[in-house]
Amino acid sequence: MENVIIIGTGCAGYTAAIYTARANLTPLLLSGTQPGGQLTTTTEVENFPGYPEGIMGPELMMKMQAQAEKFGARIAWASVEAVEHRADGTFLLKAGSESFEAKTVIIATGAAPRHLGIAGEEKLIGRGLTSCATCDGAFYRDVPVCVIGGGDSACEEAGFLTRFASKVYLIHRRDELRASKIMADRALANPKIEPVWNSTVSEYLTDEKGEMRAVTLENLVTGEKSELPVACVFVAIGHVPNSAFLGDLVDMDENGYILQNPGRTATKTPGLFAAGDVADHYYRQAITAAGQGCAAALEAERFLTDHE
Ligand code: NAP
Repeated sequence: MENVIIIGTGCAGYTAAIYTARANLTPLLLSGTQPGGQLTTTTEVENFPGYPEGIMGPELMMKMQAQAEKFGARIAWASVEAVEHRADGTFLLKAGSESFEAKTVIIATGAAPRHLGIAGEEKLIGRGLTSCATCDGAFYRDVPVCVIGGGDSACEEAGFLTRFASKVYLIHRRDELRASKIMADRALANPKIEPVWNSTVSEYLTDEKGEMRAVTLENLVTGEKSELPVACVFVAIGHVPNSAFLGDLVDMDENGYILQNPGRTATKTPGLFAAGDVADHYYRQAITAAGQGCAAALEAERFLTDHE
């Protein structure tokens, strides 16, 4: 029986691991399908305190992992499908043919990229449709591509893609970016980025091999439709929290974000805590996720002390 199982290895998960490991609780981290979390799909992180020169996302996550392991945290690959709260107050986690038992659980499963919901979308993933410029950008050299979205992610992805693509269309449903001023200004000043305002993509168009060749653009003001040739579409329209596997062990808002007890990371189930993007639709920053990971670790530690 583990003292603490932490589900997820993003900023929240690793920070919870560092704190619970240093409290001698020898936490077990279950890494899920995206070890290292969202920062492994980003480029430079300029706003994490302590790195005045910036640091690459994957490197930051490797440092967090090393720090957690240094204090005795263990990491296993397992994609948790269900969590059961047993009559004795402990938890049973099921992941394929494996199961794990724990006295407390910290949910730090983050959020997954959202898609537009266009027909045929799933078949196109990896064939000209992606949510990760860092992963796939280099495949699209000297061809036009587009990014959908108007937030920091869209601006960041668009900027990164200008290293490879001949042109990057930034397609946004309004005429003003949601991104922070510094990111928006940087994107709009880039001569290779062309904003396409008040528009959405209503259709993905493929070639005879089933690969992306163009999108149908729909102007949301005039209703006009046009075809825009692009070799790849990078979707950056936000995220969906990875919380569905918890069933009714937690309360969620209408978008699936876990609701914590007021001012705490504890959820309605005693011994079950939530930290980071799975419970935060408001800040969604690496540093706030790390802060919540710390808070969840402290709460789990106090919970164990109170119950032993
Ligand atoms: P976001 O801020 O929620 O932006 C999502 C964008 O997608 C918005 O512009 C939104 O349009 C658009 N959108 C949503 N649903 C859509 C749909 N169905 N069709 C078309 N467009 C749609 O998400 P994000 O950019 O991923 O950023 C998430 C968080 O991470 C933010 O807090 C951000 O600051 C942070 N972040 C920070 C950095 C950095 O500082 N380096 C980098 C990346 C992300 P509307 O604007 O019209 O709502």
